[in-house]
Amino acid sequence: MGKIILTGDRPTGKLHLGHYVGSLKRRVELQNSGEYDKIFIMIADAQALTDNADNPEKIRQNIIEVALDYLSCGLDPQKSTLFIQSMVPELTELAFYYMNLVTVSRLQRNPTVKSEIQMRNFEASIPVGFFTYPISQASDITAFRATTVPAGEDQMPMVEQTREIVHKFNSVYGETLTMPDILLPENQVCMRLPGTDGKAKMSKSLGNCIYLSDEPEEMRKKVMSMYTDPNHIRVQDPGCIEGNTVFTYLDAFSKPEHFAEFWPEYANLDEVKEHYQRGGLGDVKVKKFLYKVLEAELAPIRARRKEFEKDIPAVYEILKKGCAVARAEAASTLEDVRAAMKINYFDDAALIAEQAKRYAKG
Ligand code: ATP
Ligand code: MG
Repeated sequence: MGKIILTGDRPTGKLHLGHYVGSLKRRVELQNSGEYDKIFIMIADAQALTDNADNPEKIRQNIIEVALDYLSCGLDPQKSTLFIQSMVPELTELAFYYMNLVTVSRLQRNPTVKSEIQMRNFEASIPVGFFTYPISQASDITAFRATTVPAGEDQMPMVEQTREIVHKFNSVYGETLTMPDILLPENQVCMRLPGTDGKAKMSKSLGNCIYLSDEPEEMRKKVMSMYTDPNHIRVQDPGCIEGNTVFTYLDAFSKPEHFAEFWPEYANLDEVKEHYQRGGLGDVKVKKFLYKVLEAELAPIRARRKEFEKDIPAVYEILKKGCAVARAEAASTLEDVRAAMKINYFDDAALIAEQAKRYAKG
């Protein structure tokens, strides 16, 4: 059995630094490592509709944004299949069967769904589709027989739910589905990158994002107004690193060579941290450095995006081709699932013969 990747993003907005460090950057590295037999990258429009049912235009407009972000980060359609979830209806059928293997109370225990329900003020009226999206994610992962799901920490409960469904399915219907593993970022701070406001997670829905496609000036403004240590008022005051978003981002993005290039007064991040903690280093200086670090990472991505933006129909063509490939793959898994569940009546010659014999006797 080969190594297969399935992962994706909801087209609810452009992609941001959280997506980049949590999953996107890793995908590109894995893609280029040549170690994976197949890579499927899904734009999860059907899932996005579970909490945006009244705003299909938003989802529709953001498909291209996510696709452009993918291509500009280096996902290569020659190596990875980029596709749109709703164009693969087999996924919906799988989810319908998996629903029988999951209890309501199990779904209610999912911590990510719990916090998302709170965030969206869904407490009083949760759409059923939203409530069951972890099951739909199990279909996405298993349809492609994925062994590996590169994602941020918030996806751990989803992959755990998928693993339970796989286990249950295989024990009830026989060995059919592939057991997946989540692949978390190696760098601890990248598992759940906070927003520029210091809130727990950078998230499109919270409006605390630096987008991969932000223009330099826009990004500079966001960096300069970032949350730091609220008690670090005067430059000479000792500053706190923990929970200080600027330092969290430096942990995520700064590389040894950035110091020689942009801030030769310091040899490495530890020296900067030490000075900040001791007192005498102002937020503005650290933020200016962070801006340069981010710009070094984002400038080439932005430039590639501008190239792809010149030919939007070609990007749709890439997605269309990807959808056809993805659909064939999911259809083949669905065939196995139907056979395992014994709902392949017309293909089952033995069943028909046996019943014919029984009735002939009678
Ligand atoms: P939404 O608010 O619409 O849910 P989102 O910003 O949470 O959007 P998703 O599309 O739900 O983004 O997430 C896509 C992928 O990006 C997932 O693998 C998720 O773990 C990862 N991801 C999203 N935000 C972050 C973050 N702040 N830090 C690390 N990984 C993240
Ligand atoms: Mg999310």
